[in-house]
Amino acid sequence: MVREIVRDTAVLSRRALPVTRRDRAVAEDLLDTLRAHAADCVGMAANMIGAAKRVIAVRAGQSYLLMMNPVVTARSAEMYETEEGCLSLVGVRPVRRHVWIEVTYRDRRFKEKAQRFTGFTAQIVQHEMDHLEGILI
Ligand SMILES: [Zn+2]
Repeated sequence: MVREIVRDTAVLSRRALPVTRRDRAVAEDLLDTLRAHAADCVGMAANMIGAAKRVIAVRAGQSYLLMMNPVVTARSAEMYETEEGCLSLVGVRPVRRHVWIEVTYRDRRFKEKAQRFTGFTAQIVQHEMDHLEGILI
């Protein structure tokens, strides 16, 4: 189900809580909502649809990656400066991101995965994981 995008920074600043298998509906809603905004959005955290749950959805090439309870296990020392926008906010803002990150997470079947991300995908994952901490760009 496509949900409305939250723009209230008080709501967006709440730290998200871990998800369980029972939170599958939130994860599916997140994917549906990201797909509905495919033209202007490449990633979304559950906070953005009003659920303070640790789920993010990220576009990776032609498909979408759903990550539940993602945890960064390693990151590059090297960082770079760039600009990002956010569907919940107006305009673009400067940010600093790691070149690569390694993340463990549960996939949509709640199976544990470990993956290394670089480039644009790593940037999106970092942006969305910040949302889970209540951090906005
Ligand atoms: Zn955002």
